[in-house]
Amino acid sequence: MNPERIDLGGRVALVTGASRGIGRAIALALGRAGADVAVNCHSHAGRAEEVVTALRAMGRRAMVVAADVSVRAAVEEMVVRIGRELGPIEILINNAGIANLRGLDELDEAEFDRTIAVNLKSAFLCTQAVLPAMRASRHGRIVNLSSAAARGPGVVGVHYNASKAGLEGLTRGYAARLAAEGITVNAIAPGPIETDMAGPLRQTDAFRRVPVGRLGTPEEVAQSVLMVIDNPFITGQTIGVNGGVVLG
Ligand code: NAP
Repeated sequence: MNPERIDLGGRVALVTGASRGIGRAIALALGRAGADVAVNCHSHAGRAEEVVTALRAMGRRAMVVAADVSVRAAVEEMVVRIGRELGPIEILINNAGIANLRGLDELDEAEFDRTIAVNLKSAFLCTQAVLPAMRASRHGRIVNLSSAAARGPGVVGVHYNASKAGLEGLTRGYAARLAAEGITVNAIAPGPIETDMAGPLRQTDAFRRVPVGRLGTPEEVAQSVLMVIDNPFITGQTIGVNGGVVLG
């Protein structure tokens, strides 16, 4: 599939956590398909500026929106700013996430709460903030970045498993309630992908045992996001992009 064949001209997209890794690749793929893109980041604003520069070089409108997506007020302010500068958001990619490796005996309540807030609650907050405009136009695309760890053991820890399993439940719940309004909601569940997040996980057995024999690339994940955005009959689904990793 060639992203240039998908026409997202005039559509406004928000990609959370787009300063690096998978989010960056998704933002650039959306831009190549014609979308104007808001590039969210948390602390790496310089990296987000580089993504915006690349999008503008393609002729797209683009902006950096630094915001902690686990905080309601920050999310609401971000969505208002994007609406003012780029227009109503029609494509939301809930990609921002954290994966701090914790064994059973190391995991504490603070890490559990933070992981649920950044990986799961953020998707609820961003979805709630963009839904009024999507429902008014009777068109929207929401894609949530889950993980093979939603269904399998994963390598990060039970906090991460729980956050991603919750995200898939959120995906199906919204999809069922929004299908009749022209809004699709899907999840992409990557296996091990070559990003900063993969760094500390690279030496784990699960990462070394990917059936296709290598880690995936952010661009391979971005391609699957474009695929579900382009198909109005796919909703409520989780698409695995995992090199054959199913139950690790
Ligand atoms: P990454 O390279 O670590 O990048 C994480 C991104 O999320 C960064 O842009 C970061 O912003 C942003 N972020 C983190 N906390 C945030 C917050 N509170 N508010 C706003 N932005 C925040 O991660 P990645 O590998 O690209 O992963 C992207 C998504 O795919 C995540 O949801 C992850 O769980 C999922 N995933 C990844 C893999 C993998 O192997 N890499 C596998 C399965 C699923 P800053 O740059 O500003 O810090």
